[in-house]
Amino acid sequence: MSRSLAKWDQRIRRAGELAAKHSFAAEALHFYGRIAVFQKSLYASLEAGKGTGALRGDLELPRLLPHLPPFLALIESIAPLPLAQAAAELKSGRDVLEEFWRHGRQGTATLTDAEALPAWTFLQPYAEHLADHSEPTQTQETTPALCPLCSSRPHVGVLRQQGDGGKRSLICALCATEWDYRRIVCPACGEESVDKLPVYTAEELPHVRVEACDTCHHYIKTIDLTKDGRAVPVVDELAAIPLSLWAGENGYMKVSANLLGL
Ligand SMILES: [Zn+2]
Ligand SMILES: [Zn+2]
Repeated sequence: MSRSLAKWDQRIRRAGELAAKHSFAAEALHFYGRIAVFQKSLYASLEAGKGTGALRGDLELPRLLPHLPPFLALIESIAPLPLAQAAAELKSGRDVLEEFWRHGRQGTATLTDAEALPAWTFLQPYAEHLADHSEPTQTQETTPALCPLCSSRPHVGVLRQQGDGGKRSLICALCATEWDYRRIVCPACGEESVDKLPVYTAEELPHVRVEACDTCHHYIKTIDLTKDGRAVPVVDELAAIPLSLWAGENGYMKVSANLLGL
């Protein structure tokens, strides 16, 4: 099996593991698992085909549209109501997809977060497929707040061991590219003052951190791999529902919403 397909299996397996351990997230993780199985098959079929697409180019609708009806049928049968309703909008197909592809990644589209959710879920494997065939880009910025490959916002942060501490990177919400990002900087507004950047954790998942900013009131979750090396960032982020709810109640907005709209 190719390395690129294995990453989908890792996500699916991790969702099952966490669902068995944390009842508060079980339903969400089973839902994610079903979506990830679909995303893997879409990714595999794109990998097997030939395309001319690029992350900053036009959407290759002829390659993608045949996969849209089964995706919508899946969403309608298993998704929580708001997502299922938003998916109905996608039935018209191209407008919402193209709108999201052109502008939605930085939140500059006219789509609401709820409207963007199904388009994002559907296009994510396509973006990941394109990213896996792209050359890494050189950027002048040392701490780019947006993905250096596709300009989307970050979905989740990662801490890896480096010397005595942890080195942080961010993972793109759309194409899953990971890039280095300084630890004490808000990815939403660039705040660098440590006393404006509180970190919160919860007992249930001690390796998941809410990294908040008291200047712009955004937050991102960061998965501390030095505490749990088995974690798969996008999946562990989704599982940490209590942290999302806590952050929302305390006035923090997430830099980019996950599959649950949290
Ligand atoms: Zn990206
Ligand atoms: Zn900020």
